[in-house]
Parts: sequence; C-alpha cells; structure tokens
Amino acid sequence: MLAAYITHTDCLKHEMGEGHPECPERLGAINDQLLITGLLNYMQTYDAPLATAEQLQQAHSSLYVRDVAAHRPDSGYVQVDPDTRMNPHTNQAATRAAGAAVLATDLVMRKEAAVAFCNIRPPGHHAEWGAAGGFCFFNNVAVGIRHALNVHGLERVALIDFDVHHGNGSENIFCEDTRVLMCSTFEEGVYPFLGAVPLGPNMVNVGLPSRSGSAAFRASVTDAWLPALEKFRPQMIFISAGFDGHREDDMGNLGLVEDDYAWVTKQIVNVAQTHAQGRIVSCLEGGYVLSPLARSVAAHVKVLIGAD
Ligand SMILES: [Zn+2]
Repeated sequence: MLAAYITHTDCLKHEMGEGHPECPERLGAINDQLLITGLLNYMQTYDAPLATAEQLQQAHSSLYVRDVAAHRPDSGYVQVDPDTRMNPHTNQAATRAAGAAVLATDLVMRKEAAVAFCNIRPPGHHAEWGAAGGFCFFNNVAVGIRHALNVHGLERVALIDFDVHHGNGSENIFCEDTRVLMCSTFEEGVYPFLGAVPLGPNMVNVGLPSRSGSAAFRASVTDAWLPALEKFRPQMIFISAGFDGHREDDMGNLGLVEDDYAWVTKQIVNVAQTHAQGRIVSCLEGGYVLSPLARSVAAHVKVLIGAD
C-alpha cells in the first residue's frame, strides 16, 4: 500500500503580493525535493478535491465559510489582517487545501493509503472557527479531523503541531472537543502570542524560549506529548507540519534541524503504530525559506512513509 501525496495547482494561484514569505514557490520547492530524493516513487499522487461547504462547516461557522467566498476580489487584494490578504484565487486554493485533508482522511481510513502528506497552501492552523489570520483561511487539519470523527466515526483523534507558531486556530476549534487531544510546541513571545495558558484539558501546549534548540524541543516531546498520547490512545493522528522552527528559517528562532523533524516524525509513527493502525495525515503549515523547508519536508516524509 503506497502513501498518498496530495496537492493541487490551484494552491499555486493564491498569493499575497511581491515578497510575501507565504509564497507559491514553497510548494514547488517541496515537490522538487521529494522528486529528486526519490521519495515520490513511494507515493501515489492525488489532486486535491474542493472541500464541500458541509465539510468546511465541520470546523468553521457557516457564516464564515460564506464570508470567505463573498470577499473574493475580482482583481487585486482584500486585506484580512496585517499579514494576510486574499486574491481572486484564495477561496479556491483554501477550499482545495481543506479538501486535501478530507481526501487524505478518506484514503487512510479506507486503507487505500497507509499515510498521507498534503503539500498544500494556504496553511491552516491559525484559522479559527470564525476568523482568518496568520496567512490562514480554512483550518485544513481541523476539517480533516472533524471528517474523521463525524463521518468515519472515530472517537479519539490526536493533533500534533510542531510549527514554530502556536496553532491558535486549532486550539480555538478543539478546546471543548474532548474527542481531540492537541499536542503543540511553539516559540514563546512570537505570533500569535497565545498558547501559554491552554484553553482546555485536552491541550498539551509547550512554549519554548527563543534559541532553545534541539534538546529542549525533543525533551518537550518526550516529557509532555508522549505520556499524554499514550494515555489518550488516539485512533488516528493528524500533523500540523510546520518547518519554520528550522535554524535557517528567519520566521522563528528555535534552532531546529532536519534531524529533529525526522526524529519527531519517528515518535509520532511509533504512537500511530501502537494505537492507531499506523494512520497518519500530515498537512503542510509553515516553513518559509525554500531550501531548509524542502529538506525538512523530505526528512519528515521519509520517516512518515517508512523509507528511512
Ligand atoms: Zn508558523
């Protein structure tokens, strides 16, 4: 059974202006790296479908879903927050990105794919129940998780978020949903300036000081995430896979390297194999300097698909 690789050219059409770090080139850099490392040979490629309104409304209010579509400009941009804007293609790209998470969930649940990696943008983990922000419009992993719970009938799903920024949108959506355990590490004192006080007992938030480095990150996983995951026994694991904690990425200062992403992926794979029949869906979040982004994704995917 091959792993699934899900992406779509519509995700390249959303852009937020010259020089914006969340740029379409990110997906191409990742695709190239997966190609030249041979990892795509182990994966079946799928086009991301459009998520339906009903699927989006599992993680967002119907008013918000309608708003994102209604604010589509005919040309130019609509500013959403100081760092986030919509172009004429944003709604389509965001709906594909969320649809990728839905398809990934279906493939893994139907055992048509062992695991799935979604090479998608815009990212999702800052998008809340009723608000865009932080380069995000629809919360892709949240849409996938609610699909796993509400359509496939799972009772316990874990969300792992190792992006350098706290996944405040995911926490907002899941803080009262005890079917979900969210484990997150993030850099303290940077956007979105949240996460220090968890919003629910199902949130395992570990803030790390700037320049903590690999050892502190790994200790957080070992000491905070793994015991919580062991107790929770997730039936499926979703990953908000952000790579902006890499030492060469100027968006954050955690000082991580490719080996850290390979290592944390191995820990997640171990939990999934013990409790979740190996079921993992990983969705791209941050990572803004193309070379370390592409290398880190390759390190992550290699372990995820068992090619390590
Ligand atoms: Zn980030």
